[in-house]
Amino acid sequence: MITGSEKPTPADTFGGGNTGVFVTANGVVVVDTKLAGWGQIILDKIKTVTDKPVTMIINTHTHGDHTGSNSMFPATVDIVAQENTKANMTKMDAFKGDNAKFLPKRTFTDKMTIGAGKDRLDLFYFGRGHTNGDAWIVYPALRVMQTGDMFAWKDAPTLDRNNGGSGLEYAATVGKALATVKNVDTLIVGHSPLRTVPELREYQQFMSDFANAAKQAKAAGKTVDEAAASIDLTQKYKGYTKDRYKAAIQAIYDELK
Ligand SMILES: [Zn+2]
Repeated sequence: MITGSEKPTPADTFGGGNTGVFVTANGVVVVDTKLAGWGQIILDKIKTVTDKPVTMIINTHTHGDHTGSNSMFPATVDIVAQENTKANMTKMDAFKGDNAKFLPKRTFTDKMTIGAGKDRLDLFYFGRGHTNGDAWIVYPALRVMQTGDMFAWKDAPTLDRNNGGSGLEYAATVGKALATVKNVDTLIVGHSPLRTVPELREYQQFMSDFANAAKQAKAAGKTVDEAAASIDLTQKYKGYTKDRYKAAIQAIYDELK
């Protein structure tokens, strides 16, 4: 993992999300490329562990802090993403015109397996959450799963409704990942340190509680501000913050309309 950053400020040190680097017999797979301008730093870091070329990029989802440096890699690199993510990326200014060649070249709907044996990668789509195209990347030989921003931090997630995200479906999507993917121990998450499967299970419970609390607040006639002030899951969920409640509650209110 090449780490990213948890908070987008200060802007000069925010590189974007965590990046997975997987060295296979034939080349290096890079999962998520951080913000624009970080490609050389990623390449320099890879050089410290292997001389093999980068042959594939996988983007977990559309956001610029996970796709921003696709264009810093050779145009021959294979680029893979879930099909909805490719559609979302196609709408971004960063992939217009000549830069369309850095869009995904291959997509999948629910599952894709790449490579075999110790080089195998399993890519899954389990449903809507952060966006409508979040890929979960499993490295079976390493017992590692990369969650992208479906598990970014221990706080309310960003719910990107413009790209199909859903706070109401979020917990069920995480539940599908937990039920489907076995034999992993370590999670590379979106924007914070390595996590474990029990922590993802806890996050699923948190998101279920959070969405229910937002639904109840709306039914009780509370404004988004009132809901953000009154909902507090930091006692039940140790180590969690509530810096991101308001935007997530707003998104759930909008979804309930
Ligand atoms: Zn994101």
